[in-house]
Amino acid sequence: MSTPRFTTSSTAAQAIELITRARKLFVTAHIAPDGDTIGSALGLDWGLTQLGKEVRVSCADPVPESFRFLPGADLFHAVLPEPDELVVVPDSSDPQRLGAVYVPELFRNRPVVNIDHHVTNVRFGTINWIETAAASTAEIILELVQALDTGLDQNIAVCLLTGIVTDTLVFRTSNTTAGSLDAAAQLMRAGAPLTPIVEQTFNTRELSDLKLQGLILAGLVVEDGLIWADNSMQVRRQAGAGDNHGSGIGTLLLSARTAQVSVLFIERDKNTIEVSFRARPGVDISRIAFGFGGGGHPQAAGCTLNAALLEAHERVLPALRVLLQARRAERRPS
Ligand code: 5GP
Ligand code: MN
Repeated sequence: MSTPRFTTSSTAAQAIELITRARKLFVTAHIAPDGDTIGSALGLDWGLTQLGKEVRVSCADPVPESFRFLPGADLFHAVLPEPDELVVVPDSSDPQRLGAVYVPELFRNRPVVNIDHHVTNVRFGTINWIETAAASTAEIILELVQALDTGLDQNIAVCLLTGIVTDTLVFRTSNTTAGSLDAAAQLMRAGAPLTPIVEQTFNTRELSDLKLQGLILAGLVVEDGLIWADNSMQVRRQAGAGDNHGSGIGTLLLSARTAQVSVLFIERDKNTIEVSFRARPGVDISRIAFGFGGGGHPQAAGCTLNAALLEAHERVLPALRVLLQARRAERRPS
């Protein structure tokens, strides 16, 4: 076992104590669930179940097809916490991320353990165990299950390795550390197979998703340091892509040599736009997303706007132009 990075603080100790004492736990993932929130919730579930605890995992949205291979993926239901359950929330920077599972009356006046790695976390829990040096929440959960003294079985390992692999885009993001790699190596030794996880989560997609990517890329717009595109209802219809997210497009857009920031506008319905931001290392996009009511990391963030597509452009793009202008001014030799 490597030296713990996250379990030595008093906050970690308080979280571990609350979880150790609880007999029934309610673990909830965030809406539009990704591999880190699903993997962290399930990894914790497998660990706590080993200790004889009763655990329910919840998510307001269905588990996407690409994570249905995870052991326990079918255990998720859009359910609400019961009064005798300890609530644990992995990977959510604010309670609104829980969607319909967040019912303020049910979360008030009870202990809520918030375990996360987003810099924009609003510390909504009773215990706020926030480790921004972790590339994924799954890295924190790995140390948590080790501190709880559960055995590291294959189920836990597969779930947590999926969290690390997906949040680091297969160890490519700038927040990937030697600690992330150590954690991944431990999980592989515990029986998590890296290749099938990468195959399921990155190397396999619906054909319609590929077509959608092509259509989105065909409509991209480039300005000084900024690159953006729309994932509109119309292009999704054209690609036969249903509800598809066009996953990975933001990162692909940012790969343009001149791009510092990329933005993808995803039209959920006529008046709901999800905005997905990506930024090169050295540019911090999390504060812009937070300013629009969202959150995330310096290099990957998002928000949801109650606006039509054109209005979303008008609200978001000027803020990015200002950010990039300020950066150019800073870098200009005086
Ligand atoms: P993505 O662009 O992949 O959907 O999200 C990138 C990052 O931003 C993730 O860490 C995700 O949790 C965060 N994020 C995306 N949308 C929202 C949002 O509406 N609210 C908050 N708080 N975070 C978001
Ligand atoms: Mn995460």
